[in-house]
Amino acid sequence: MKLGMVGLPNVGKSTLFNALTNAGAESANYPFCTIEPNVGIVSVPDKRLDALAEMYHPVKFTPATLEFVDIAGLVKGASKGEGLGNKFLANIREVDAIVHVVRCFEDDNIIHVDGSIDPARDIETIDLELIFSDIELIDRRIDRTKKAMKGDKSLGAVVEFLERLKAHLEEGRSARSFEMTEDELDLLKETPLLSLKPVIYAANLCEDDFRNNIDTNANYKKVCEIAAAEKSAVLPICAQIEAEISDMDAEDKAMFLSDLGLETSGLDRIIKEGYALLGLISFLTAGEPEVRAWTITKGTKAPQAAGKIHSDFERGFIRAEVVSFDDLMQYGSMSAVREKGLARQEGKEYVMQDGDIVLFKFNV
Ligand code: GDP
Repeated sequence: MKLGMVGLPNVGKSTLFNALTNAGAESANYPFCTIEPNVGIVSVPDKRLDALAEMYHPVKFTPATLEFVDIAGLVKGASKGEGLGNKFLANIREVDAIVHVVRCFEDDNIIHVDGSIDPARDIETIDLELIFSDIELIDRRIDRTKKAMKGDKSLGAVVEFLERLKAHLEEGRSARSFEMTEDELDLLKETPLLSLKPVIYAANLCEDDFRNNIDTNANYKKVCEIAAAEKSAVLPICAQIEAEISDMDAEDKAMFLSDLGLETSGLDRIIKEGYALLGLISFLTAGEPEVRAWTITKGTKAPQAAGKIHSDFERGFIRAEVVSFDDLMQYGSMSAVREKGLARQEGKEYVMQDGDIVLFKFNV
């Protein structure tokens, strides 16, 4: 999974990006690395995986990973190629979901590019750049489809759909808020729109508001309204707190968070939202050689999940032995779970569940 962080200048994007990627670096089990200054790979924290590591003391410990890209510099005029605008838009095209950092904190010392704190205006500014770029793409697609229509009249319905979508975009509304059928959504696979990407709004609050007044903060409420109207996710966050805890050890961090009435850090919450938004789950494989988490989409069947590990596993799939994490923890070992008759033998049609511990049987 690849998450791109966008937002206007001075909203706390870099503070958050550095805190999240640094937080990954600090925990021994969950390494993090920087590929480029603005790209970090973070391991996905998973308590189940930690427990399996304690049980197996594996030679190798491989958590799922995700990539954060800090897409700084997306400003008004980006879609017109202003500054490095087009480069940033190209970066966004490559991500699975967007984390849009929105400034909800007041601080007279930190200027706002547009002079005041106004989340609705800020969200619109960024959205419009994505929408303008999408209109260009749709225009080109309409031209192409119209030409092809000369030989294939059935394309008339496609043009009609594209024109309806274009009209929606031209009202300044993102493709996310356009009602589409599954078939129409399929049509857009060859025209990947930026304003159709799933969005998590990270509402960056000041420490005091984050601790005491999340629900009464008018800026945060506004972000929630916007998110609800387009079925996006929203997450209250305090970039400064994240920065503070990013280099604490696990114990101090847990204490600090519980003081705030939180169970998990911002990194955990963003990852959780990202998984939910993209319909992702994990299955686990465990043994002495390696304890590992694998990311799949909800609804994936056993053979395709096996194919994540190796294409031979999918081709030669016979069955999957599946154990639930809770059963394994309760009875302490695979053999004990088998003795209790709780290890299930699942076939080709089995739909994988989050947290399944799996051993695939296959022919080579
Ligand atoms: P970016 O331009 O969006 O990447 O913003 P930065 O992360 O560089 O932050 C801009 C300035 O705002 C920095 O001086 C940060 O320390 C400050 N900042 C970030 N988050 C907060 C916050 O929650 N409260 C306050 N008061 N300042 C913040």
